[in-house]
Amino acid sequence: MIRTTHVTFVLAAALLVACAPKPSAAPAAGQVDLARLQGADSEPDNWLASGRDLGKTHYSPLQTINRETVGTLGFAWEYQTGTNRGMQATPLVVDGVMYVSGMGGRVYALDAATGAAKWTFEPQQDLRNVRGACCDIVNRGVAVWQGRVYVAGFSGTLYALDAQDGHIVWQTDTFQDRSRAYSITGAPVIAGKVVVIGNGGAEYDSRGYLSGYDLQTGKQMWRFYTVPGDPSKPQESKALEAALPTWKGDKWWERGGGGNPWDAISYDPETNLVYFGTANGAPWSRDQRSAGEGDNLYLASIVAVNADTGDYAWHYQTTPGERWDYDATPHIMLATLKLGGADRKVLMQASKNGFFYVLDRKSGELLSADPFVATTWASKVDLKTGRPVENTALADYSNGPKLLFPSAVGGHNFNPMSLSPRTGLVYIPSVHSGMVVAENPLPPHKRERIATGVQVAFSGQLAAPQSLPPSMRKLTDPAFLKTQPDIAMSASLKAWDPVSRKVVWEFKNSSFMDHGGVLSTAGGLVVQGGLDGKLKVLNDQTGELIKEIDVGTAMIAAPMTYRVNGEQYLAITAGTGGGGWNFWFPENIAFTNGNANRILAFKLGGGATPKPEPLPPVAPLPEPPAQVGTASDIAAGAKLFAANCGSCHGNAPRSPVPDLRRSGVVRDGAAFQQVVRGGSLTARGMPAWDDLLTEAEVTQIHAYVVSTAREGYAAEQKASAKPAASKREGVSQGHL
Ligand code: CA
Repeated sequence: MIRTTHVTFVLAAALLVACAPKPSAAPAAGQVDLARLQGADSEPDNWLASGRDLGKTHYSPLQTINRETVGTLGFAWEYQTGTNRGMQATPLVVDGVMYVSGMGGRVYALDAATGAAKWTFEPQQDLRNVRGACCDIVNRGVAVWQGRVYVAGFSGTLYALDAQDGHIVWQTDTFQDRSRAYSITGAPVIAGKVVVIGNGGAEYDSRGYLSGYDLQTGKQMWRFYTVPGDPSKPQESKALEAALPTWKGDKWWERGGGGNPWDAISYDPETNLVYFGTANGAPWSRDQRSAGEGDNLYLASIVAVNADTGDYAWHYQTTPGERWDYDATPHIMLATLKLGGADRKVLMQASKNGFFYVLDRKSGELLSADPFVATTWASKVDLKTGRPVENTALADYSNGPKLLFPSAVGGHNFNPMSLSPRTGLVYIPSVHSGMVVAENPLPPHKRERIATGVQVAFSGQLAAPQSLPPSMRKLTDPAFLKTQPDIAMSASLKAWDPVSRKVVWEFKNSSFMDHGGVLSTAGGLVVQGGLDGKLKVLNDQTGELIKEIDVGTAMIAAPMTYRVNGEQYLAITAGTGGGGWNFWFPENIAFTNGNANRILAFKLGGGATPKPEPLPPVAPLPEPPAQVGTASDIAAGAKLFAANCGSCHGNAPRSPVPDLRRSGVVRDGAAFQQVVRGGSLTARGMPAWDDLLTEAEVTQIHAYVVSTAREGYAAEQKASAKPAASKREGVSQGHL
């Protein structure tokens, strides 16, 4: 087993003993409990959980920074993490200390007034896990509870750290089968006596589950599998026995079935229920997963289980028989809404599938479901049956490629939304995009391989038919496209009224990949970080842009705010990545400056934000090596590359993953073997593949990579008179 270096810094102790102990010394670190979380509004200085409160509203009652004062908002401090991947976590602040996670589950405990590190933590990681993860080595946050910081490492270990100094109190392996493609990118949630965590892997060959671990000991108290296992064996729960008839065919369990809860988890102490969302099926194609039939419970569902036992309470399946990567994993928000004159305790989700759902969170009853983006796969949701009315002619790709909206990016993805009690509006980072989906026969199951059973192209590619496989080009017919939503893709921050069920205002973002998480505040503000490197402050009632701060680093996470020593700060983690990171669009690249990850804090009267040094212009591709291998080697290598390498290696300039056409390693077949099978670049994030790829296969991949270097060079030479940035084209196999 190959592990990266494991370093735990313990710095706080020296500071604490420097002064004689006094009875009035700072309180013990990280003392969050249920009473404090339930009373979060009465201590607005703190941000005690990932969404600040139990409902995960991402709203702050602080208002020193407001519409009148925000003009002087400027830089307060930064902390550079030394990493360069997607930063997706919302920091927590408890009694003057910020706890925030970064790449792969690293944790930073910082003085919230200065950004000075109190301690940092880097989990031990088995980098082989990276091979079974679609969407970057990210982490969406920590939970702080009774003196401990809970975080899940990318390769499946759940840690309880001491909030005072970061040492490991306990750790436990959450993966039930390491021969399958599991990974963890989500934030744990405290629910009664347990800490709850799920996992990702539904684009590969895993079977999703959610687990609860004893807060004190780390002992596994329960596990809820989201899809049935081998039907010849007893299922783990009654809920799975009930789900079994919704699956058809004779082999879904070989591929794992999917349904992984990779993000949304919420807990309501009143109902003592844990709510979570499940992903798509593995593979995506229902024809290839379940003989083309069945709802396939509990895929693409919001599920409620008892926090003490993990026993099933109810479920609502947003996308029955899911086959478009419409994970039900985005942010689950709990709130009380006045509906029909009565207060209803609800759960809300702006789903990847384009519908905004409001459910009674005690019973699971569907109260409303309305499209918040262009949505064509279903015309509506029947409130009586709770089922979507599918538009089969547009969405069923069994008989050929289909164009449908939204795309696999989702109308809304992981990026947290925010509910302001001031306005009653939910601010949704939304995406307008469609996709073309076609069946793509599965190869025989091989462990830890991305295997969706489909080919996917973005709607934007319909404007450039040559970027599409021939079978998809008929969808570029102008007469047909005239009947469809705009194929051009975009993103916007939408203010959604969950009671009147409509968009109140909309703020256009810089590109369709630009849909960062959101904060709203009692200062009348909505705040969002941009892929264009700008932090934007909007009027919460009108969407008017009031203030913009150029920080020089792309942002996708949600901002948050807190107060220390009477000073209100606004903070965000900066760095792009995550789903679609292998594309690394030109609009991603322009502001990343190497994507150096930073935690940034701002305050009134702050200065200009320091920006990372701009990277030099992208150099021309170097002269390529001579071609190696035969034409059939190159063709075989192309398939192997797509199945094994393409979800990280997009050959985009300035991506954190090197453009292989520029790599010196590609110029030396033996060195290429050393890297791919020998793991010689493990320390830089490239795991060894010796157990998954033979030497002969790696030789074929090498032949293909050399051919791409040669083609790229030739194309660049041809176009060198007129170099122009062009959007990445091609067909993606998976996206989240
Ligand atoms: Ca997915």
